[in-house]
Amino acid sequence: MQIHLRGALLLIVFTLCNLYLVNKICIGGYDVVAEGETIGFVENIEDVTDITEKMDNELYESYGIDRSLADKIELVEKVDFKNNISDKEELERQISDLSDLICCGYTLIISDNETITFKSYDDLLITLAKLQRDYVMDNAEMGFCENIEYKKEYVSKKKIYDVETGYNYLKENMLLNVVSKVRQEYASTINYDTTQINDDTMYKGSVEIIQEGEVGESLVSAEIEYINGEENTRKIISEQIITQPVAQIERIGTLDPPPGYGTGEFIYPVSGTLTSEFGPRWGSTHGGIDLAASTGTPISASDNGTVIFAGESGTYGLLVKVDHGNGYVTYYAHCSQINVAVGDVVTKGETIALVGSTGNSTGPHCHFEIRYNNVQQDPLSYLK
Ligand SMILES: [Zn+2]
Repeated sequence: MQIHLRGALLLIVFTLCNLYLVNKICIGGYDVVAEGETIGFVENIEDVTDITEKMDNELYESYGIDRSLADKIELVEKVDFKNNISDKEELERQISDLSDLICCGYTLIISDNETITFKSYDDLLITLAKLQRDYVMDNAEMGFCENIEYKKEYVSKKKIYDVETGYNYLKENMLLNVVSKVRQEYASTINYDTTQINDDTMYKGSVEIIQEGEVGESLVSAEIEYINGEENTRKIISEQIITQPVAQIERIGTLDPPPGYGTGEFIYPVSGTLTSEFGPRWGSTHGGIDLAASTGTPISASDNGTVIFAGESGTYGLLVKVDHGNGYVTYYAHCSQINVAVGDVVTKGETIALVGSTGNSTGPHCHFEIRYNNVQQDPLSYLK
């Protein structure tokens, strides 16, 4: 008898312990059953109806179909381990799979505007990565100009974009701009300063370089931000000078030149047609250019100068030579008439002769030469 009592006591203690444990690890809830198969276990009915209602709404909005997905689901009361409560994400996916029209999607929100929806968060991330890959740079910190968020929602399956179509849509509509920030080190040149010293013994317009400038070099470390591969900003972090630049020093003439002193810039002496350029011609060298114009067309001094020759000169025919005082002398040949005499000071643009065909000439034109220290130059590289 005593033994029995002890046994009963033990049984009571044992049962109490079990009840305590059961309450601790078990819970009353519902098996979620669809098409004869258990797809989850929930504590509250709302855990399921929250999902089905959202899907029903979307089904009605997208297709005009008034149907409750909940009809496909049976909830069976049951006590089960707490551990068996379905993961919310997993349950959503399972329920979402029951509809051939609606599914759970991830909508990309760009700067507060809802855009396209992907079937998974992975697809959304892969699409964003694909956009960035177009502008990927070594060691760059990649991002977007726009603020990006996403939201999970139930949508019509026909609204779902895959990685490829999503990428094309975002690209074509230019909804996202890729930012890449990269730190670069590079050599940079440092420009030199130019110091000018006025010199009243030199004519205006003349420049003498006393000391040639030299560029310096530095090592620059910069943070460069690119948007869609184009440089947007460049922030210099540090600059280390390797060689200092050397300033250029120039002497600048301030003295007014006397009349007849050339400016160094030449104008066309005749408005005519260029019929022969400077350089090799018929086995020899053509020492100037030919400007064809009808007989009597005025010939102008190409720059300020002094007439040093005016008259007949062999194959040149009637010829005028003007000395510009700066090392340059110009020739005007084959004239029909000369309007100046030796010693005359002429100004740029002033008529000095008329076009003709005297000397060795096949038709009316002006043969024009520019000589520097008596060496024939190509006039076309001087004329304006
Ligand atoms: Zn000629």
